Amino acid sequence: MELKKVFAALAAGMAAATAFPSPGIAGGATPVAVSDAKIGGFWHDNVRRLVCRWIPHCIKELEAGGRGEEFLNLVATGETLAGKEPSVKFKGQPWSDAYVYNTIEAICLALEIDPCGDDVLARGQAYLRGKMEEWIPVILAAQEPSGYIHSYHDLRKKPHFTQAGDHEFYVMGYFIEMGVAHLRTTKGRDRRLFDAAIKCADHLDSVFGPAPKRTWLNGHAGLEYALCRLADAVDATDGAGKGAKYARLASHFIRNQYKAEGANAGWHAAYHQADMPAQDMKDASGHAVRATYFYTAMSALALRLGDGELGAAADRLWESAIDRKEYITGGVGAGWHGEAFMGDYELANNGYCESCASCGMGFWADEQRRRGHPAKPSAVFERLLYNNLLGSISEDGRSFYYQNPLDSDKVRYPWHVCPCCVGNIPRAMLALKDRTYSISADGTTLFVEQFVSLDGAKAKTAGGVVAIRQTTAYPWEGTAELVLSPEKPTRFILALRVPDRTESPLYSAMPDVSGQFEATVNGKAAGAVLQDGYACIDREWKPGDKVVFSFPMPVQRIRTDIRVKADKGCVAFSRGPVVYNFEQIDTKEPLDKIEIDPAADFKTFWMPDLHDGVTALRCGELVAIPNFARLNRGQCRSVVWMREKQGGSGSSDQNGK
Ligand SMILES: [Zn+2]
Repeated sequence: MELKKVFAALAAGMAAATAFPSPGIAGGATPVAVSDAKIGGFWHDNVRRLVCRWIPHCIKELEAGGRGEEFLNLVATGETLAGKEPSVKFKGQPWSDAYVYNTIEAICLALEIDPCGDDVLARGQAYLRGKMEEWIPVILAAQEPSGYIHSYHDLRKKPHFTQAGDHEFYVMGYFIEMGVAHLRTTKGRDRRLFDAAIKCADHLDSVFGPAPKRTWLNGHAGLEYALCRLADAVDATDGAGKGAKYARLASHFIRNQYKAEGANAGWHAAYHQADMPAQDMKDASGHAVRATYFYTAMSALALRLGDGELGAAADRLWESAIDRKEYITGGVGAGWHGEAFMGDYELANNGYCESCASCGMGFWADEQRRRGHPAKPSAVFERLLYNNLLGSISEDGRSFYYQNPLDSDKVRYPWHVCPCCVGNIPRAMLALKDRTYSISADGTTLFVEQFVSLDGAKAKTAGGVVAIRQTTAYPWEGTAELVLSPEKPTRFILALRVPDRTESPLYSAMPDVSGQFEATVNGKAAGAVLQDGYACIDREWKPGDKVVFSFPMPVQRIRTDIRVKADKGCVAFSRGPVVYNFEQIDTKEPLDKIEIDPAADFKTFWMPDLHDGVTALRCGELVAIPNFARLNRGQCRSVVWMREKQGGSGSSDQNGK
């Protein structure tokens, strides 16, 4: 089937869907989950940093003697529930359990990676596996017989579900997601956390819902999307239809948030997406983490329940967020007051850009893609992944950023008073292996969404299973080699995303490389056709067929829409998905005094000593390094946007290779 027809069929399928049809994924493009991923190249180094340094660092800080010790809250809750004196008093924020749960979810994803003979990585994984086994009984012991779990309430003996600011739903959302992830990682063999997640969701379902059950305000979204993921998992393990009630509960929360008790408390109404019915929303607003989690659930429900109203609203919000409120680094949520989305084109360079908001955008992009929106969600995920998210962790993997402004002199810190991001960042990044490929609902099109050295992917096409091995030096080179191995010769469309770097109309990139690519199959021109952002090759594929896909990766000058006042007269640089920063440490002249000549010819060079080696840019004395590697060489000012000399001779559209 032609790609256009595939999307038309998906759109028709979605429009025709009625409320609560068969649960599970009924249409769109389904990601190809890779449970034994062999990851090489750029991402091997980054996986190693997360597995061997960052996640162990989180564990150390969460445990006794660490900076937060939040894990001890769960230990003490278990003691209390067993009728013993708790060994510690409650520490941290009411939502502290969340960091433990998202760290375990990150561990689950990390254990789905084959160390490929890397002993250091294998030892790192063994440590994480052991720690998870040690933690699981403690977590299970902290769950009340009813299914309720929240250490803050149990240790402080507070009545349940009385203060939205206590984040019970938020924490239970992470608890449920942890259970779903653990079931998958253990390939269904270990249901302990999954069954605990079901018990928790059943408890929520017994208390909340249409009258006579309660309708209550969710103080921080997250639970709704977790319930959608649980619905999928329960359908897959316990039988189609068994998970539907969890999606319905999520729908109840999303559709009634605006009229829940306490919803319209001043500015807080927009802050937690309670200022209007979800189906009427059109302007991405409020606290950016809450908002992106809320919108993710709207997309997820549009797909799972065929809720066209929520789907249309999610699409309007998506345009609002990406077309008018997204930073070039993929960060969102410019406001320091309320960590919020600001107005259209309000993108101050000291903007907040919380790391968890990028995680939320990544989850939302995944759901938008699943619903059948071609190419753009994958481009959005790529941008936030290679810049805002990757840059949130330090080169040594032992400190992080909560905020990610584009103009800053702050170095990363080992912990934060609200370390919500600590496990969220690695779980969002490690999900890359499951976002690299997707398959159309009818199985006729295999999409290559991301460029990653990845072996072990197996996609189910209509004609059978196809193993895919990809090798690439991306993001430093614009070439990927794919070897496809169907079980038997099989016809399908291979659709490779053609990066165009302008998925947000806020930014124009020069030279424009949109739509440019070359593709060969077994050394011969592939006859690929560009459609909906993908280079499509329709043929009968045979075991061992080799595709070489390449696209230009010049150094690009980025300029913004003139309505973005913060960047008026400024220029930024990118190459491929990587945005660049200028750092004071590289130049004697104050960055404020520098004006970049429009004809300045920036060339690439390899900087081996930074962040496992990076491609940097140089023009004369001026040097720019990847945004993700910023502020790793001591404290100094580091900026994305530089003033550009006005009235020059125009840009130099050179190729950086
Ligand atoms: Zn966070």
